[in-house]
Amino acid sequence: MPNFDTHVAAAGLTSALGVAVGAILFEWDKTASSLAFVAGLSGGMVPDLDCDTAKPRRLAGIFVGLGCAAMVVGYVSGHGQFLRRPWPAEHVALAALGSFFLFNAIFLELLKSRTKHRGLFHSLATPFLYGGLWGCLAASQGGRTIMAVWFLAVIGVFSHLILDAAKGFSFDPLKIATADLAASTRLWILTALVNFLAFIRLFAL
Ligand SMILES: [Zn+2]
Repeated sequence: MPNFDTHVAAAGLTSALGVAVGAILFEWDKTASSLAFVAGLSGGMVPDLDCDTAKPRRLAGIFVGLGCAAMVVGYVSGHGQFLRRPWPAEHVALAALGSFFLFNAIFLELLKSRTKHRGLFHSLATPFLYGGLWGCLAASQGGRTIMAVWFLAVIGVFSHLILDAAKGFSFDPLKIATADLAASTRLWILTALVNFLAFIRLFAL
């Protein structure tokens, strides 16, 4: 099976091509292009979040931990009655460290207990779920950027699934569901919801 480096290279190449095409055909600006590139490149790693030993999961855990720590720092260093904010610097630092390890551990534990390698994370729902999430994230940037990140996120994840399929000589990574039909249904409903949210914002802008 293709390893981490192969997936990163494939997703990077696909994303670079996608950004070039988007800039020429749809006049994506710098923000749209760079966000779309990140969406595409990271998309190439997303399916292997279901693999206990793979790098993508450790990387994602670090990002989630850092993101949560940043939010906690923003909150406890701001002014407010609740929790008697702002906190002194050394308490803020401790809160940041604590929340990093806490959310990192929760995220990794959730993935570990809820996923199976080459299960639903390697299914046709994943590209669209990931694309929808990026669309929601980029909502404030406007319609063109939403389309750009959605498109590249979808392509990035597909680059992973197609590479897995090609190397394994099986269409297994392109499955619509797994034997666990309840989980498959939940994943598709979530995917539809997230995409609805991403695109309703597009039309509201
Ligand atoms: Zn894979």
